[in-house]
Amino acid sequence: MGERWTPKSWRHLPIEQVPAYPDVAALGAVESQIASFPPLVFAGEARKLKAALARVAAGEAFLLQGGDCAESFDEHSADNIRDFFRVFLQMAMVLTFAGGSPVVKVGRIAGQFAKPRSSPTETLDGVSLPSYRGDIVNGIGFSEEARVPDPRRQLEAYRQSAATLNLLRAFATGGYANLENAHRWMLGFVKDSPQSSRYQDVASRMTDALDFMRAIGINPETHPEVRTTDFFTSHEALLLGYEEALTRVDSTTGDWYATSGHMLWIGDRTRQPDHAHVEYARGIKNPIGLKCGPSLKADDLIRLIDLLNPENEPGRLSLICRFGADKVGEHLPALIRAVEREGRKVVWICDPMHGNTIPAGRYKTRPFERVMQEIEGFFGVHRGEGTFAGGIHLEMTGKDVTECTGGARALTADDLQDRYHTYCDPRLNAEQALEVAFRTAELVKA
Ligand code: PEP
Ligand code: MN
Repeated sequence: MGERWTPKSWRHLPIEQVPAYPDVAALGAVESQIASFPPLVFAGEARKLKAALARVAAGEAFLLQGGDCAESFDEHSADNIRDFFRVFLQMAMVLTFAGGSPVVKVGRIAGQFAKPRSSPTETLDGVSLPSYRGDIVNGIGFSEEARVPDPRRQLEAYRQSAATLNLLRAFATGGYANLENAHRWMLGFVKDSPQSSRYQDVASRMTDALDFMRAIGINPETHPEVRTTDFFTSHEALLLGYEEALTRVDSTTGDWYATSGHMLWIGDRTRQPDHAHVEYARGIKNPIGLKCGPSLKADDLIRLIDLLNPENEPGRLSLICRFGADKVGEHLPALIRAVEREGRKVVWICDPMHGNTIPAGRYKTRPFERVMQEIEGFFGVHRGEGTFAGGIHLEMTGKDVTECTGGARALTADDLQDRYHTYCDPRLNAEQALEVAFRTAELVKA
């Protein structure tokens, strides 16, 4: 790895998961165009998130990160964004209230368009085509034409990210995110849920707290802490040409920041220490996530931490662990012990989705109980090691899809065909996501 970092120093290094663009000149033209576009987020916001994550690293707050596996161009609508945001805020409220902890809210949204694939090709009924790599690269349709990488898709991804972010900012600060709204949505959920009695208690304690505030003269409608919320964005930094084009110098500090989202993470397939993705991420000052799967050895993790957080800055690096319900107990302790031995400050996050994907007929699914088991295992290991389970990273939607089995309504493999809408991996639906929040809150509280 070269010593001197620049936004394009990754280009000299080996790289995984690169789309085969047929027209390299057209790709370069699009990248130059994006380099002239305004930043989507600001360095000061990324620093604010880093400070919030430093509190998580210190065990003083909990992180909730979630959203689609892959955003899509077709499903870009105000309703979808609103429904996601509504459920996400409810989850945050449950974790704050029942878990008794401040919650740092990070969406997997407004830029989550590029997908790493395990295989370069996909086969259906004996026909093999290049894999779908996310709407920022190629089309999901199963045809030769759709699967050709088209650089103009990056312009649409930028446009959609900007529009999504604009609406999210309006929701977060314009009054929609107020506690009373979130409480009202919660009452609706509790009333309709098959697990209603379990959640009733939390909902009525929230009612009491809001009544109490009003009684002592705090008007929840106007109080800024109750009316607005901090909401941040994140995505996998996979398509490095796009990321480079949006990497800008912060005028206040002179540092380089990715401005495509507040937090960027490195995927489990692209975390080779001497390859391009790690090189790109090491030079930007944003909070960085690193996916940690079963193949990651403790020594390699320390080497990656040396590269990604050489100054041991708390909040800079989050380790997003995704082992599988049956493997978390085997793999996580060694990583925690190495990090503790070396005195590294990190945020430990549980991604209970990517290690628990199983085939179910023509679909991929994730059994709800396996998702919960991995979260419980993650908390259990941290309890045993005396370290802090800092957050959860979920693939979820605000819609009533049927992609993960189980949950309060006990969805079965036969139900999957009803509303299986994901562009990539199966997501928790709104009810399942809230149920995860309730059950995780009990673990946070414990
Ligand atoms: C993802 O988060 O969608 C993903 C592909 O994860 P991982 O890199 O952990 O496999
Ligand atoms: Mn995924």
